[in-house]
Amino acid sequence: MIVIENVTVATVDADGTEHTDGHVVVGDDGRIAAVGAGGAGARPGSPRRIDGTGCLLTPGLVNTHHHLYQWVTRGLAQDDNLFGWLTTLYPIWGRIDAEAVGAAAGAGLGWLALSGCTTSMDHHYVFPHDGGDVLAAEIEAAARIGLRFHPTRGSMDLGRSSGGLPPDNVVEETDAALAATEAAIDRWHDPSPGSMLRIGVSPCSPFSVTRELMSEAAALARRKGVRLHTHLAETDDEEEFCRSRFGCSPVEYAEQLGWLGEDVWLAHGVHLDDAAVAKLGATGTGVAHCPSSNARLGAGLARVRDLLDAGAPVGLGVDGSASQEAAHLGEELRQALYVARLRGGPTALSARESLRLGTMGGARCLGRADDLGSIEVGKLADLVLWRLDGLGHDGIDDKVAALVLGPAAPVELALVGGRPVVEHGHLVNADAHALTLRARRAHRRLLDGF
Ligand SMILES: [Zn+2]
Repeated sequence: MIVIENVTVATVDADGTEHTDGHVVVGDDGRIAAVGAGGAGARPGSPRRIDGTGCLLTPGLVNTHHHLYQWVTRGLAQDDNLFGWLTTLYPIWGRIDAEAVGAAAGAGLGWLALSGCTTSMDHHYVFPHDGGDVLAAEIEAAARIGLRFHPTRGSMDLGRSSGGLPPDNVVEETDAALAATEAAIDRWHDPSPGSMLRIGVSPCSPFSVTRELMSEAAALARRKGVRLHTHLAETDDEEEFCRSRFGCSPVEYAEQLGWLGEDVWLAHGVHLDDAAVAKLGATGTGVAHCPSSNARLGAGLARVRDLLDAGAPVGLGVDGSASQEAAHLGEELRQALYVARLRGGPTALSARESLRLGTMGGARCLGRADDLGSIEVGKLADLVLWRLDGLGHDGIDDKVAALVLGPAAPVELALVGGRPVVEHGHLVNADAHALTLRARRAHRRLLDGF
């Protein structure tokens, strides 16, 4: 049992309850046993007691879009738009293998944990024929770091010779991709309430996947009871591609393929007209908002305020680290607020709404709202204690504002199911230097010869 006291608590429950001087008790079952104002009082046994003076306790952040393998291909194609950036990187990605993905995932997930993330998805869609078991490699990395993990089995089957964007040697045959996706679900997916590992189905994007694979992937996911994810409406180029190839907008295309619904969340959703925003809201289709990646690639300013007003679940994502080298989920709280205000003015998104995107919004996107995303009795104890009494934050009396508007805050403690994964700004279960060296070796091996 863990007791955290003398702490400001932002529960992010439906009422936005906060306690300026509060407590949270974590039970031996890894769930939240109590939350409230004042001290926790006497507790049976000998719980670990943590003094949260100077800190803010929030739900752990949920990362709703990532490509972990990209950690070892950062810093390239710095001034390209999406299609140019992809065209530069596809040949390098065609060389990845299980060692490179394991190294990248270890570094990327370790960094995410240090940025306040307790649950992350991954969208992996590059499976070289001789690359080994890359999905197993990233699952092993997540287990070692201790994060709750929602990897999705991605795929591409529309190579350049068929009118797609990726070179033919990085795409799969349609049936082979579907069979491998089903095998991944059968092997790994754990649907239990406290699950640490859930698999999703995620063909890559309209310009790298056939209509057949998109439709069959949706049917597979629904047959297996898992969630669906893809990139959609990220850039103007994609809009043009869909209009010329399919005669409709990306969201209309998704609707034709059965890709709207409460079991779907889409990465980006930047270029949406009013009808598309209304459609996503009415169908409960989620959006993984990735403000830093959208900025890095010059993709545009997503309509987050409009999506929220329409009722769509919106979470935050860092996106792949090759299109967003910082990959720091805590910083995305501020970036999301900035992007919303650049688009809609100073009242477009509040600090508390931004925190809600990063927590409850993400939990909704991943289908975990019953267990994650807020600090409520009975929910899983995925919690982050942010230190806000140092030079960068002290003096900002409103601690939620300090977290969101201030610089990236140090993580004093991060718990996943009540188990520490970060303490005093350091990973508990892995050595950051060892993760760095392994990722450095993988990066050099991939880039040598290019
Ligand atoms: Zn992406």
